[in-house]
Amino acid sequence: MSQPPVRTRFAPSPTGFLHIGGARTALFSWAFARRHGGKFILRVEDTDVERSTQVSIDAILDGMGWLGLSWDEGPFFQMQRLARYSEVAQQLLAEGHAYWCYCTREELEAMREGQRARGEKPRYDERCRHRTGHHEGVKPVLRFRNPHDGAVAWDDLVKGRIEIANRELDDLVLLRADGVPTYNFGVVVDDFDMGITHVIRGDDHVNNTPRQINILRALGQPVPQYAHLSMILGPDGQKLSKRHGAVSVMQYDADGFLPEAVLNYLARLGWSHGDDEIFSMEQFCQWFDLDHITASAAQFNTEKLLWLNQHYLRGADLGRLAGEARKRMEASGVTVGVQPALERVVALYRDRVATLNELADAAHPFYAMPHLPEELTDRHLTPAARVALADLAHRFETVEWQAQSLSAALKEVMAAHKLKMPQLAIPLRVAVLAQTQTPSIDAVLEVMGRDLVLARLSAL
Ligand code: GLU
Ligand code: ZN
Repeated sequence: MSQPPVRTRFAPSPTGFLHIGGARTALFSWAFARRHGGKFILRVEDTDVERSTQVSIDAILDGMGWLGLSWDEGPFFQMQRLARYSEVAQQLLAEGHAYWCYCTREELEAMREGQRARGEKPRYDERCRHRTGHHEGVKPVLRFRNPHDGAVAWDDLVKGRIEIANRELDDLVLLRADGVPTYNFGVVVDDFDMGITHVIRGDDHVNNTPRQINILRALGQPVPQYAHLSMILGPDGQKLSKRHGAVSVMQYDADGFLPEAVLNYLARLGWSHGDDEIFSMEQFCQWFDLDHITASAAQFNTEKLLWLNQHYLRGADLGRLAGEARKRMEASGVTVGVQPALERVVALYRDRVATLNELADAAHPFYAMPHLPEELTDRHLTPAARVALADLAHRFETVEWQAQSLSAALKEVMAAHKLKMPQLAIPLRVAVLAQTQTPSIDAVLEVMGRDLVLARLSAL
């Protein structure tokens, strides 16, 4: 029998940003579909009306867009599918798999109180399975009639076989009194309507899976395969959370990371292909499988992400890096003129920085002379150094403006003033860029251009 085409989905609840854990879930679902020539579906689970916001929907879509995780179908919104959930609910009701529960909040509380007092685990005691007659003024919820006997088992593609006895599961609510489905019911209806073959999601949903399988069975629907990804731990070994700084993937953009570095990083977070650390998304989509996902938790490592970012900065298109650096400088109020050419500035520094923000910081002095702190001037712009710089400025007026001749001019001044290279080069760096360290000074001068260098030297 031929396998049905692979269909995966990412199903975020729009109650926050696209965080690192969600992004990895999305990436794995996306890559699995790509690998198998299948489809990747985006579904927004917005049934928690109180907590769902448009801002969050936008943030999630922005995050997916930034990472380049494009979906083939959707986004579907659960709140636009209420009629469909009610239709499936009616079917379950008609077939005896569901029943109305008229318990009031007080009644349920009293029930749980009693259970606790008897040392039992709080659970719904199925009283409405047998209740007859309606309760005036109570809008019922619809509950699933969970089987009493047997067990639910599945071969989780990450965690192996998992089996839960039905007596551990109580009659969960499918539809709330206002007709909005609960998470478990919405997922089930959508997963089968959307033909999902592989559910790849965080392992915080392992406990929901047997319930979802029971509902699918009651509906006579095929059960998808499940792959539950282990959680991501922060660098300190605790569950990754806001405390660890970057919550939203967009924060990585703000912090100067390239999306390809973040993607490559996420790909290795709990999955491996031998010792390969650096690979493109194209390569990843050819390699990705569920067999090489680690069942243990993956730990976030900021150093490694920086290392990858550095790697991708080195290979990135200069025009793109210039655009990123420009955006970041302009955001901090720097006007980036046509001269010096930003692409050339960026080319000087891209091997020396770990983030786009560092790149922008390095390019900044080429467009706006930073304030020169007194300790720099006192230390480096000594009277002797100033005399040598004045001589250099004089020669710079006529020298051919390219690295070799500039370097020759520097050597002449060193000889004339009996200075060693650092005794001239460091004051020069301080004078033109307010920095003591730069890439090779002749290359820097060449990129800065005669006018700018002379202007900076004469402003001393
Ligand atoms: N909406 C759920 C969440 O954000 C995911 C549901 C699922 O993948 O089944 O946790
Ligand atoms: Zn009830």
